Amino acid sequence: MTECDVFIIGGGPAGSIAAAKLVQAGHHVEVVEKVKFPRFVIGESLLPECNQLLEDANMLDKVIEADFQFKGGVAFQNDMDDIKVIDFKQNLGQKWGSSFQVRREAFDKILLDDAEEKGAHVTYESEVVAYNEETNIVAVKHKDGSTEKFKAKKVIDASGYGHVLPRLLNLVADSELEMRDAIFCRMKNDVRHTDGTDGFIYVYIVGNNDAWIWNIPFNDGVTSVGIVCTDEYYKSYNMDQTTFFNHIIENNKFAAARYANAEKINDVGFIGGYSSNVTKMFGKNFVLVGNATEFLDPVFSSGVTLALESGAKAAELTDKELRGEKVDWQQEYQDYMMVGVDVFREYVNAWYDGRLQEILFSKNEGSEKIEQKIVSVLSGYVWDENNMFVTSPTAAVNATYRALTGKEV
Ligand SMILES: Cc1cc2nc3c(=O)[nH]c(=O)nc-3n(C[C@H](O)[C@H](O)[C@H](O)COP(=O)(O)OP(=O)(O)OC[C@H]3O[C@@H](n4cnc5c(N)ncnc54)[C@H](O)[C@@H]3O)c2cc1C
Repeated sequence: MTECDVFIIGGGPAGSIAAAKLVQAGHHVEVVEKVKFPRFVIGESLLPECNQLLEDANMLDKVIEADFQFKGGVAFQNDMDDIKVIDFKQNLGQKWGSSFQVRREAFDKILLDDAEEKGAHVTYESEVVAYNEETNIVAVKHKDGSTEKFKAKKVIDASGYGHVLPRLLNLVADSELEMRDAIFCRMKNDVRHTDGTDGFIYVYIVGNNDAWIWNIPFNDGVTSVGIVCTDEYYKSYNMDQTTFFNHIIENNKFAAARYANAEKINDVGFIGGYSSNVTKMFGKNFVLVGNATEFLDPVFSSGVTLALESGAKAAELTDKELRGEKVDWQQEYQDYMMVGVDVFREYVNAWYDGRLQEILFSKNEGSEKIEQKIVSVLSGYVWDENNMFVTSPTAAVNATYRALTGKEV
């Protein structure tokens, strides 16, 4: 049996930042990762708050050195030719006004290698298969079929879509969000914008908010393209995923123009019903971080930000606990995390019920301060208590909606 201070399940962004912070605080950290890196995972567009979190963990330099595509903001565009360009620099004065578009196979490897260089012990191609909550012993199955047990003072579950502890401990809950699917592919030689927004993520709204298309440009002429819609909408087409993908792209005027001469460089992928939830985010000896907790929706590219924030927060609190101080995990971790998650939840709800799009595309001039507050949220600064969109998200969105549209909610 291997003993350690902290055992981390999974080496995505949440696991890597937790590992890096904990080894820098002097703890013995074991990370067990199911697959060999580099590996693909969805989620390629980052928010400026990611830069801040990585900088705080001394992990940003390696990411900057990797020379990923600079991302200055996001542009939303609908069929009626309304366009809203969000420039991350127009935030509420936060340091980082940009981020990156990243191939996750490269980005995640950089972070996990960095955690390893800083002192974490990483074992690849090994899978957590059992966990005893009382003894805090984790059972791992290695690639060669052998098993190994680890006894840790704290277990951090950063297994993302694997949902390891939620499944083993029956913590999986239904998401209250409607079931949506993503149908996606990488394309090369698309037509890029030449107005200074070439590195932005473009979101094209399909029809009457029936679906939306993400366009995430990398700096080598390849673009990640994905369609998001309800499962019901996808099924109503009665098409296989590739035919559906082609059909939506060809029939959206912006996508059709952008990808007219582009070609797919891989098969069209499909993720069905991606939203997930858990009944609680911690137990006596464990804590869940990143996508192992709740995942809302990709529309505002918030997933990696929340993964890094939760991984960093869980690491800080674990360090505090291991140094003998008392930690109130409900208040200091779960309630804290839900502040940011609930801000994005309100934005996601307002996106799909149309309020946010009416705000974004309104021809009425809102105040500059309101604009900055919205930009700040879309940059991932969702714990900024000076922003009313953070402290009272629903009231702030509704008040802005009424002021700009003259309509009641
Ligand atoms: C359609 C879609 C589009 C998205 N787009 C974006 C976007 O543009 N920007 C953004 O920020 N986010 C996006 N996301 C969200 C993003 O994918 C996730 O939030 C992010 O990857 C979470 O990181 P993580 O570290 O929690 O988990 P992951 O990155 O999933 O890493 C978890 C790791 O755990 C390992 N693991 C799993 N099971 C085990 C086991 N039993 N034992 C050991 N290891 C295990 C896995 O192999 C994996 O490497 C998107 C999500 C979806 C569904």
